[in-house]
Amino acid sequence: MESNTKLIPEISIIIPAYNEEQSLRPLMAELYPVMKDTGRSFEIIFTNDGSRDKTLEILKEFCATYGEVKVIDFCGNYGQHMAIMAAFEQAKGSKIITLDADLQNPPKEIPRLIEEMDKGHDVVGTYRVGRNDPIFRKVASKYVNKTTNRIAKLNIKDYGCMLRGYDRRIIDIINVSQENSTFIPALAQKFATNPIEIPIAHRSREFGDSKYSLFQLIRLNFDLMTSFSTVPLQLVTVAGMSISVIAFLSLIFLIFIRFALGIHMTTRSFFSLAFDALEFILIGANLLAAGVIGEYVGRIYKASNHRPRYSIRRIYTNGENND
Ligand code: UDP
Ligand code: MG
Repeated sequence: MESNTKLIPEISIIIPAYNEEQSLRPLMAELYPVMKDTGRSFEIIFTNDGSRDKTLEILKEFCATYGEVKVIDFCGNYGQHMAIMAAFEQAKGSKIITLDADLQNPPKEIPRLIEEMDKGHDVVGTYRVGRNDPIFRKVASKYVNKTTNRIAKLNIKDYGCMLRGYDRRIIDIINVSQENSTFIPALAQKFATNPIEIPIAHRSREFGDSKYSLFQLIRLNFDLMTSFSTVPLQLVTVAGMSISVIAFLSLIFLIFIRFALGIHMTTRSFFSLAFDALEFILIGANLLAAGVIGEYVGRIYKASNHRPRYSIRRIYTNGENND
C-alpha cells in the first residue's frame, strides 16, 4: 500500500531522458532501493525528451509498476535543460534532486545530498572526482568552468555535473523566471543563500553515447555565458575599439614616414601587406562583433515572442493505464 504517494512527497527526483533505453532499467534498479532506504516519501519524475527508441515504453512501464513515478512526454527534443524545467513545474517535493539517466551520477550518492539539504543548504552542488569522460571533454570543461565563473561572477566547481539538490524555494523562483535558454545549475546558484558543493564519484557512460555533439556542447556553453553576463559583448566592443585605434596610429605612422622622413615607394609592398593583414583583423573583428550582438538580439527575440518553451504530449501517472 503506497498511500504516502497520494500525499505531497518530501523528495522529488528529476531525470531527463533522451534515447536512454539501455540505461533506464539498470538506473531504476539502483535508484529505487536507494530512495526506499532513505525512509522518506518521494516521487520520481522522468521527462522523455523526444526519444526515438524505447525510452517512453520503458518509462510507461515504470509508471504502471511504481506509484512514485510520473512521466512527462515531450512532443519533441527540447534539450536536457528544458526537460528538467518541465519536471520542476510538476515537482511537489520540498527537496528536488536532478540526476542524469545514464548512470554517470551514481544514485547511491543521493542520501549524501539529502543530508546536506537537511543541514539547511538550499543548493547542493556536486563536482566529479575521477571523472570518466573523454579527455577532450575534461580539458574543455576545466576551461569552461573557469571562464564562466569569472565572467558570470559565480563560483561553481563543475558546471557539467547534474546530480544536484535544490530547496523548494529555489525551484519556485526558477519556475516563475520562465527562462528560455538557460543553464539550471548557474541559475540556481544566483538565487542560493546557503549553497554547498560536495565531491561525488563519477562513472563512465555504460550504455549508448553522449547525447551531446561537439556543436551542441559549444552551443550550451555559449548559452551559459550569454545567459549570465554581458561581458562577451563588452569585450568585443573593447577589442573593436583597440583595433581601430591601432589602425589609426598605423596610418599616422605611415603618413609620417612617407612625408616627414621622405621614405619612398621601396617599402610600398611591405605596407600594402601590413594593411592587408590589418584589413583582415578588422573583418574578423566585425564578424565576431556581429555574432555576439546577434546572440543578444536573438535572446531578446526569443524572450519577446512568448513562444512556449516546450510542449507536452501527455503526462503519465500511476493509476492511468497507459497506452
Ligand atoms: N538529455 C536530454 N535531452 C537531450 C540531451 C540529453 O534529456 O537533448 C539527457 C540524457 O538522456 C541524460 C542527460 O540529459 O540523462 C545528460 O546527457 P548526456 O549523458 O548525453 O550528457 P553528458 O553526460 O555527455 O554531458
Ligand atoms: Mg552523461
